[in-house]
Amino acid sequence: MKKATSIPDMYGSLVFSDRVMRERLPKDIYKAVHKTIQNGTHLELDVANSVAAVMKEWAIENGATHFTHWFQPMTGLTAEKHDSFIAPEGDGTIIMEFSGRELVKGEPDASSFPSGGLRATFEARGYTAWDPSSPAFIKDGSLYIPTAFLSYGGEALDKKTPLLRSMEALSRQAVRVLQLLGEKDVTRVTTTIGSEQEYFLIDKEMYLARKDLLLCGRTLLGAPAPKGQEMEDHYFGVLKPRVSEFMHELDEELWKLGIPVKTKHNEVAPSQHELAPVFETANVAVDHNQLTMETMKKVADRHGFACLLHEKPFDGVNGSGKHNNWSIQTNTGVNLLNPGRHPGENLVFLTFLVSVIAAVDKYADLLRVSVASAGNDHRLGANEAPPAIISIFLGDELTAVLDSMEHGETFESAGKQQMGTGAQVLPHITKDTTDRNRTSPFAFTGNKFEFRMPGSALSVANPNIVLNTAVADTLSDLYDELAQIPEEERTQRLPGLLRSLLKQHKRVLFNGNGYTDEWIEEAHRRGLDDLRALPDAMPRWISDKSVALFTKHQVLTKEELFSRYEMVLENYYKAIHIEALTLQEMVRKDFIQGLVSYTKDLAQEASLKRSLLPQAACSLEEKILEGLEADGVQIAQALDTLHTDIRTAEKIEGAQESAEYYERTVLKDMEQLRAAVDHAEERIPDSYLPYPTYSKILFSTL
Ligand code: ADP
Ligand code: MG
Repeated sequence: MKKATSIPDMYGSLVFSDRVMRERLPKDIYKAVHKTIQNGTHLELDVANSVAAVMKEWAIENGATHFTHWFQPMTGLTAEKHDSFIAPEGDGTIIMEFSGRELVKGEPDASSFPSGGLRATFEARGYTAWDPSSPAFIKDGSLYIPTAFLSYGGEALDKKTPLLRSMEALSRQAVRVLQLLGEKDVTRVTTTIGSEQEYFLIDKEMYLARKDLLLCGRTLLGAPAPKGQEMEDHYFGVLKPRVSEFMHELDEELWKLGIPVKTKHNEVAPSQHELAPVFETANVAVDHNQLTMETMKKVADRHGFACLLHEKPFDGVNGSGKHNNWSIQTNTGVNLLNPGRHPGENLVFLTFLVSVIAAVDKYADLLRVSVASAGNDHRLGANEAPPAIISIFLGDELTAVLDSMEHGETFESAGKQQMGTGAQVLPHITKDTTDRNRTSPFAFTGNKFEFRMPGSALSVANPNIVLNTAVADTLSDLYDELAQIPEEERTQRLPGLLRSLLKQHKRVLFNGNGYTDEWIEEAHRRGLDDLRALPDAMPRWISDKSVALFTKHQVLTKEELFSRYEMVLENYYKAIHIEALTLQEMVRKDFIQGLVSYTKDLAQEASLKRSLLPQAACSLEEKILEGLEADGVQIAQALDTLHTDIRTAEKIEGAQESAEYYERTVLKDMEQLRAAVDHAEERIPDSYLPYPTYSKILFSTL
């Protein structure tokens, strides 16, 4: 019998990890690579050559025949082009070859990737550059090398490049401040991220039977099922066997890739689930989240499921998000957002806490932009949480700490309290100093912040680029103020500085329920932004404030910002355009056919009845027929309007104008059409419907 592989053996078995490098690389080469990874320093070509040779050997031993530079263009997906290791010798034989140059640099044709005008189409060149800080791995017989993707002129065409730049910016500023505060050992800080991933798992057959899911990732039609999530019976519920088998295989596949997935459970909506890894360095965590999403889809397929990552696959039940847990850690191993036992006296913690608060308030609009997409708009600012307004939840204890600080008082902690369970047999448990808050878009959760606005399908690179840069900026301002104070007075005067910073930005703090209308009114009174739809938010991305922020910290140039603005808008209106066409086709070609054949059968039935039973009232048939006739009139009208408006939309020039038209007009037309179709759907037997209903899809998994 084959011996089962233990999980520690399986873990990372497909990764060219630090351990593999330590074992296989000559000592000096290993040291050089390790230094690059730890300190973000540059790597020389001779080192790359040695690494490439060892990497190739290891990859071939593990079954790889090809290698690929793996990158993250602005499509939000990943891209890869595979080259085999073979090199013909001229005598009909081959050798397996892989050089340092091939490891370090690739030249994919960039012309078919979105560039937002950064590159004219005739300038096709693009470069991929090895990112040694994210480990290479093997998948489907290829060695995957994580890379950044740049244009011929050196502009970033991807999400990794600005993420790395933002991590460096944050590190630079944090280290300067920490040095001033006397933390002389700190030479580098890293951003850490744990991204909780929500998703839906539905039967593959049903998925394939719906053009909307297939082409758009979400249902564009569908009356609500009689049961939704109101019984609250799915969240943390027992895993169904088929789902459990899927999750088990998913865990193993991800562990092999060195992705530390830890938690899995059922989510609130029927057929919705969540997976969470243990946090990692931001750059690696982002790569790993991309791989996780891809692996989810692949493993789902093997189990007869389709994995839906769209933010709002079904109306009427919760959509899916991706909680971005974020913190900052020093090279000396300190989590800078850890309040410790005495947060009121922990000046380093308070400095970073207040800097994050200031950053989030000052750049709330950019954070909103960083999570904007056609899909995520259905969550943010729609009938769903979190709202589009950014606020910060701190919890009772930290609020009290900051209150004392604001009033120049010392804070007395109540400490952790024991909780009475009322049952002798149960062990004593200690209570946290604050309850959780599930409705806040940006919540302090013990020793990290949790940004809950990112959508389930989005790369988490964007929100972290903004967050890192925004915090770098407030730290840099704080440094400038601190540096003017004589060294011996700094510690004494720091609380005063933090106090005034807090006063300026405390409007962003809110511990209450973020889902209520009262909060929205209150937020408007406080002057907080409420940028509900993507086209409302995007102009902020190219505002003077944004340009000043990103150029000052060398994270994005003005050109890169403007090109991203174009790309996001384009992506948005194209997504809605495809949805509108899909909806139109589903109604015209499929739904109407079902409607017509049902009404025909009903009418025939009524007339047959009458011919056999002249006294028959046929009131049931007639009533349904009348109702469906009325629906039919509405559907025809709504189809006409949608059709006309799509034609108008296609003629609009300018990305901003197009996006606005699609949001204000085409989306509304789609809702109108959907309402009429769904109304009819509720009256038509399933056997006449061209697609499976919500009941079937959401409750089909056994
Ligand atoms: P929940 O949000 O459901 O309470 P957890 O508290 O278990 O979940 O944590 C959620 C995520 O936060 C996990 O991915 C975890 O690894 C991550 N996390 C914990 N500490 C940090 C940290 N210092 N930096 C970034 N992420 C962290
Ligand atoms: Mg969470």
